[in-house]
Amino acid sequence: MALFKSLDNLEDDKSQKKMDSEVEKVKCLIIGSGPAGYTAAIYAARANLSPVLYEGLEPGGQLTTTTEVDNYPGYPEGVTGPVMMEDLKKQAQRFGTDVRFGLATATDLSERPFKVTIDDKKIIEAETLIIATGATAKYLGLESETKYKGQGVSACATCDGFFYKGKDVAVVGGGDTAAEEATYLAGICNKVYLIIRKDYMRASKVMVEKVINTKNIGVLFEHTTKEIVGDMSGVTGAILTNGKGEDVKFDIHGFFAAIGHKPNSDIFKDYLETDEVGYIITEPGSSKTKLDGVFACGDVMDPHYRQAITAAGSGCKAAIDAERFLGSQG
Ligand code: NDP
Repeated sequence: MALFKSLDNLEDDKSQKKMDSEVEKVKCLIIGSGPAGYTAAIYAARANLSPVLYEGLEPGGQLTTTTEVDNYPGYPEGVTGPVMMEDLKKQAQRFGTDVRFGLATATDLSERPFKVTIDDKKIIEAETLIIATGATAKYLGLESETKYKGQGVSACATCDGFFYKGKDVAVVGGGDTAAEEATYLAGICNKVYLIIRKDYMRASKVMVEKVINTKNIGVLFEHTTKEIVGDMSGVTGAILTNGKGEDVKFDIHGFFAAIGHKPNSDIFKDYLETDEVGYIITEPGSSKTKLDGVFACGDVMDPHYRQAITAAGSGCKAAIDAERFLGSQG
C-alpha cells in the first residue's frame, strides 16, 4: 500500500513538474497584489483580457501590514488594510481574474510575448504585462540589525508589535510610516522611542501632532542608530549617537525600521528605464513604460504619492492602457 501511494505521489510530482515547466500563454499578466494590481485586474477582467495575477511574496501588499485606513474614499468609518485588500481580491475574482500564489523571479522582455518566470520554474508568455510589484521596507543596513532581524528587529509594527506588549521599543524614521508605527506601538508597549536623525519630523502635521500628544512616545531628535545590541533572547538595547556626538544606550526589546521603501523593480531593470532609486519610469500621465505592451502602476513607479488610492487609480490606467494596446494590435 505504502509503495503504491509513493508511486502515485511520484506520478503527481511528475505531472506537477510537467505543468510547472510548461509554457502558458496569457493575454494579460499582472504581477503584484496591492491596490494597483487588484484594480488593474478588475478593469482587465471586465474588458475580457482574462487576466492572470500573481500575488507575490506578500499577498495583499503593504496595506496588509497597516491597521486602519481612514483616507480611502468610500469608507466613512475607515477600514483595516487586510479587509480592504481581501475585498479588492474578491472583486477582481468576481469578474474572472485568475489570482495565483507565486513570485515572479525572472523576466525576458526582449520581445513579445514577454516571458516571465514564476517561482524559478513555470514560464508565462504574456501579450501584455502589468507590473504592480510595489515597494519593500528599507532597513538601516547595520550588521547588528541584520543579526537580530526576526529577533527584535522588524519593519512592521502591526505584524510584530504584539510580541512587545508592555515592553520598551524604538522606531527609527521621521515620516508618516514612522509616526504611524510609533502611535500603534504606543497602544501596546510601555514606552516607544522615536529616533529621528534631523531636528524635525517629515511626517504630515496631523501625524506629528498625534506623536507629540501620545504620552508614552519619547521623540529623540538628532539621534542616529550606531548599533543594536542583544543576547540569545534577542534585542536588549540600542546605542544611539546624539546631536553632540555622544553615544547613549537605551534599553529596548524591539527595534522597528520605518525609513521608507525600495521599489521592487530589480527583475525588470535590464529592460525598463528606472530612476536612481529604482522607480520604473513611465510616460507622464500614463502607465506606459518604454516597452510597448509593458505597463507599470502603483508604488513601483510612484516616488511621489504612494497612497492606496493613487495606486488603485494607476492600476486602472494600466488596464485601460493594456486593453487599448491589444486593440491597436488588430
Ligand atoms: P518617507 O520617505 O516619507 O520618510 C522616511 C523617513 O526615514 C524620513 O524621516 C527619513 O529621514 C528617515 N530615514 C531615511 N533613511 C534613514 C536612515 N538611514 N537613518 C535614519 N533615518 C532615515 O517614508 P515613509 O515610509 O514614512 O512614507 C512614504 C510615503 O507614504 C509618504 O509620502 C507618506 O506620506 C506616505 N504614507 C502615508 C500614510 C498615511 O497617509 N496614512 C502612512 C504611511 C506613509 P529624513 O527626513 O532625514 O530624510
